[in-house]
This record gives sequence, C-alpha cells and structure tokens, in this order.
Amino acid sequence: MLTDAPPRKANRAGFLESDQTGTLDLPQYASLLTITKSIESAMRRGRSKDVRRTCAEFLDAASEFYKVPACGFRVLAARPLRVRERWATELFGDYTPETMLIRVWMRTAVRKEVTSFGTFLSTLCHEFCHHLDYQKFGFHDSWHTRGFYERAAVLYHHARGTPPKKLFWVPTVGGRWRIDWPRTNRSGRTNAASV
Ligand SMILES: [Zn+2]
Repeated sequence: MLTDAPPRKANRAGFLESDQTGTLDLPQYASLLTITKSIESAMRRGRSKDVRRTCAEFLDAASEFYKVPACGFRVLAARPLRVRERWATELFGDYTPETMLIRVWMRTAVRKEVTSFGTFLSTLCHEFCHHLDYQKFGFHDSWHTRGFYERAAVLYHHARGTPPKKLFWVPTVGGRWRIDWPRTNRSGRTNAASV
C-alpha cells in the first residue's frame, strides 16, 4: 500500500486532516460481523446473488451507523476496462462520488482468479471509506493517506472480528508513504500473543 502524494495547494488542509485521522468510531454490537459471515459463506458456495444481497446489507448497516446516505452497490463478474481508482496495486473495486456507487468485482483482471474473501471484504471496506470521506468527513477529495488506510483497516478488522493491527509506515519519494509490512506483521503477532 502506497499513499497518494500530498496536493500542492488546494485541499492541503483536508489532506492533512485525512492523514491524521487514523481511527473510526465502530458499532458496539456485532451486526457487521454477522453480515460478513454471510458474505463469506455466500462466496464459498459461489452464490453471486447472495453475495450481492449480503454486501448491500453490510453497506446499508454501515451507512446507518455512520449516519451517511446509503450508497449504491454493484458486484461485477470481472474487472471493467475503465475504473476510477488510482489504487494501482490491488485493484478490486472503485467508488464514484457523484453517484455514490461502489463497484467490486469477483475476478482479478490478469489471472481471472476469484478474489479471496479477505481481499473482497478489504476492498468493500476500502471503497466504503471513500464514501465516508465525502459524506461523513466532508473532504473535497478522498485521498489514499496513511489515515485513510488506517480507517479502512479499523473497519475491516472490526467487520472480520480480527484484532486490529497497528500500521507502520516508511517515507518514500514525493511525500508519499508505504507500509512497512515486516514491522507491521511483527507487531500484529506481538499483539495477538499478548491477548
Ligand atoms: Zn481507493
């Protein structure tokens, strides 16, 4: 995961606010976890209609909790030719702010393999966090900042019922950051061992 470069002038304040907001309120009840278990079993059984229905349920429940308008949702069989995401490395979904539509696809572009449940759910949370950026935080753009990835991870681990992982970052060129996976994974293991 690599962050976007900071904008030069306009929206710089919004970018910094996004970068520094690394947490997200979470529902106290386990309703999202119940729904994601249904998504997982629908995927395992290869029932695309059920995948669609349970994902829509997930997004409706999350929108209700965060008090944002419900977003539209489509599951596509394969990656479309044109996508909006600038998220180059793990491209399994996109979000259109004007229409508040999330699209995720079940197959990877290159090898046509079915996306794993973890990747699929992570994509759903990622795209929903774009929706939150516009509708809850009121940002003018939805940048991939460190805070953005942290918020998406907080939502993902809550929805999957797994312990949250602290993300460690290393600076790269142009004011961008990438995740230090060895350090992040080491710290995740320590957390898990101490629970
Ligand atoms: Zn994105």
